[in-house]
Amino acid sequence: MRIYNTLSKKIEEFIPHDGNKVYIYTCGPTVYNYAHIGNLRTYIFEDILEKGLRYLGYDVTRAMNITDVGHLTSDADTGEDKMAKGAKREGKTVYEIAEFYTNAFLDDMRKLNIKVPEIIEKASDNIDTYIKMIEKMIAEDYAYISNGNVYFDISKAKDYYKLSGKNPDDLKVGVRDTVEEDKAKRNPADFVLWFTLSKFENQVMKWDSPWGVGYPGWHIECSGISYKIFGEHLDIHCGGVDNIFPHHTNEIAQSEAFLGHKWCNYWCHGAYLNDATGKMSKSKGEFLTVSLLDKKGYSPLEYRFFCLNSHYRNPLVFTYESLDGAKNAYKKLKSKVLSLDKNGEIEDNYFNEYKEKFKEALSSDLNTSLAITTVYDVLKDSRLSDCTKYLLIEDFDKVLSLDLTVSDNIKINSDLEEKIASKIEERKLAKKNKDFALADKIRDELLAEGVKLIDTREGTTYEFI
Ligand code: AMP
Ligand code: ZN
Repeated sequence: MRIYNTLSKKIEEFIPHDGNKVYIYTCGPTVYNYAHIGNLRTYIFEDILEKGLRYLGYDVTRAMNITDVGHLTSDADTGEDKMAKGAKREGKTVYEIAEFYTNAFLDDMRKLNIKVPEIIEKASDNIDTYIKMIEKMIAEDYAYISNGNVYFDISKAKDYYKLSGKNPDDLKVGVRDTVEEDKAKRNPADFVLWFTLSKFENQVMKWDSPWGVGYPGWHIECSGISYKIFGEHLDIHCGGVDNIFPHHTNEIAQSEAFLGHKWCNYWCHGAYLNDATGKMSKSKGEFLTVSLLDKKGYSPLEYRFFCLNSHYRNPLVFTYESLDGAKNAYKKLKSKVLSLDKNGEIEDNYFNEYKEKFKEALSSDLNTSLAITTVYDVLKDSRLSDCTKYLLIEDFDKVLSLDLTVSDNIKINSDLEEKIASKIEERKLAKKNKDFALADKIRDELLAEGVKLIDTREGTTYEFI
């Protein structure tokens, strides 16, 4: 597998740190609103990365956080907590907002055939880990207390700008939003590890700490959760390109300060989905979600197909015309696959030849458009029987996840099964959070749809009534 590493700015041979095992950490959503289709482009890329590595024979474990505290409206630690802002907007509590938009995000993932990572951790569930890490950083002089907050001193980090390639003069243009000067900082790029003197009177999520009641900064959550789950070494950390600075830069600084050695070997970033005016974001224009596309007649998998036809490191411009093109091509492709005669003998030599080509496309820095071309090549190759073609495409779809061999009738049933599975997950999460009212509500809603949940010692199953 050859993959582009933002750290070295080169395509490198991928070598995991522990034999065949691969540990991946993905920055998760800030759950104050629906995910837009730009965010979801990044999650589709990460899904392909995980499935591609599995296809190539690696044993992958992926963890993702849910940001429910500490992410301020500016990535430079200024402005309001996005969660508090979302709660105010909707007249709900931050807990209600977090739960609602986490579930909406999981629903979007299911619709887009994005595999939910094995491990999902809420930022607010890992406060002890952050406190332990911050205490060590203060003791070793990487962090300091000033004006009530705990800051990381970037002058102590080894080569702070190594990931972004920026320099201190770039700082003012380096962050996403407006930069307010914080006089409590030793260096302008220092960042908050722990807010104790909350500027926000309505901050609901807060915890006791050695520095007073407060809440963690955004960056420490990913370093903390990764450390808790994977320990001292991480193979791949991914996100969108806007995460490179300051978020991932700060993660490296604090994790390496805490651990005392190099932490993550490969940093992979997906390029933006842009609209006519530039980067798609939640704050501008029409807020494009999976549900809105669905209402306009574009299925989630047509959008997935649209994304996979371009390379994850190239910016992709969204227009309805280009989505129309993807929709038509997807429909044609799927109907060709479904018209293949599945009966017959598999031709091992051709099967293996094309499997190698598909692997080669994935190994070339996840060249998904070449992987899709391989699907077309299989269909066109007159040497192959229908059966071999069908089995090859079914095999490729383990990675592409475009349901190319799933007829729309079967899809309705499997959608229902997936919906039940995700509702069971939501209920499990609700029980873990001791929100028994929500757990009961999920159970009753499914019952009203004719699905009875059965709790057993091994987990929850169901039957149709
Ligand atoms: P957020 O919920 O804002 O923390 O973002 C979730 C993920 O979406 C992050 O990995 C971002 O880098 C990514 N992201 C944000 N905007 C875009 C965009 N327009 N195109 C692609 N990815 C994006
Ligand atoms: Zn993160």
